[in-house]
Amino acid sequence: RRNIAVMTSGGDAPGMNANVRAVVRAAIFRGCKAYAVMEGYEGLVRGGPEYIKEMTWHDVKGYLSEGGTKIGTARCMAFKERKGRLQGCKHLIEAGIDALIVCGGDGSLTGADLFRSEWPSLIDELRKNGDISEEKYQKHKHLNICGTVGLIDNDMATTDATIGAYSSLDRICKAIDYIDATANSHSRAFVVEVMGRHCGWLALMAGIATSADYILIPEKPSSSQDWQDQMCKIVSKHRAKGKRKSIVIVAEGAITSDLQPISANNVKDVLVDRLGLDTRVTTLGHVQRGGNAVAYDRFLATLQGVEAVKAVLDCTPDTPSPLIAIDENKLVRKPLVEAVKITKSVATAIENKDFDKAMSLRDSE
Ligand code: ADP
Repeated sequence: RRNIAVMTSGGDAPGMNANVRAVVRAAIFRGCKAYAVMEGYEGLVRGGPEYIKEMTWHDVKGYLSEGGTKIGTARCMAFKERKGRLQGCKHLIEAGIDALIVCGGDGSLTGADLFRSEWPSLIDELRKNGDISEEKYQKHKHLNICGTVGLIDNDMATTDATIGAYSSLDRICKAIDYIDATANSHSRAFVVEVMGRHCGWLALMAGIATSADYILIPEKPSSSQDWQDQMCKIVSKHRAKGKRKSIVIVAEGAITSDLQPISANNVKDVLVDRLGLDTRVTTLGHVQRGGNAVAYDRFLATLQGVEAVKAVLDCTPDTPSPLIAIDENKLVRKPLVEAVKITKSVATAIENKDFDKAMSLRDSE
């Protein structure tokens, strides 16, 4: 009988609760005990029954649709240090946990991968210090780890969709629908800034789904002059055809080809100065994370939670930690370390202005 723990970590995303529910129930269904680590890695570092809690079937009632994460998440600096991870190791062993499923973004999954690879040396140190008994040492020689990706940006290599991305997209589209009405009424332009760090997926998809006039994303930078000229030309053309509203969507990571950030206010100034449009800026901010999970995220999180439990039960000490991905509509296990590595390389390539490399890395996934 295995003891399987689930944790949510990093930025919250709608669907994380559905993932926790699926892990808890699939674990119980398979005759295991289920646990939740509260407050992300902070809960591991703090330990004890308050932070590593056994979960029953009924404890996750109502989790399927609810946004955010009910077991808490946190940014935990202590876990980035070996000392913090040593505490985490000790607390997991004290609670008798032998598998951990982490639902989070690339930072959280980097931490998970490091934790697993370091595990043998961590338990050796605990044994040497007399912090764990010989019996516990023998029983917990390996920790199985599995990742599911909970992240609104949809910015993780080797998976087509992350838990939360479609809910966030839906929220952005609804917000733009509301803005459309007021923009039309006053014949205004609106510049809408959306989240996404290095990834323009939310901005691009929202732009298509709301027929925005212009979209600025980090993956397709151009010189300041070029994007301004192109945007003004397109917006003026639409206005000349009688369109009363103009919507420009800016991803938070949008940049020029010489790596200057493009802010929503920059875009507004251009629309005002060059086209004389009455222009407002709307930064959607945390509204994009809120609210219930859409059907797709409930479904993805549930299937991935069930698959994560199967994966940790299948894993041997030699199996690389898996990440549960969705690839061309099929649930698949991918090596966690690989997914994290490619995601980081794309971000670094964008930071280094090597856009061709960033795109080819994305295409090669
Ligand atoms: P996300 O998972 O959404 O990308 P973060 O990057 O903030 O969010 O990571 C969440 C947490 O994961 C951090 O607060 C930290 O506890 C842990 N973490 C992130 N990167 C590492 C790392 N390189 N080593 C160990 N732990 C890490």
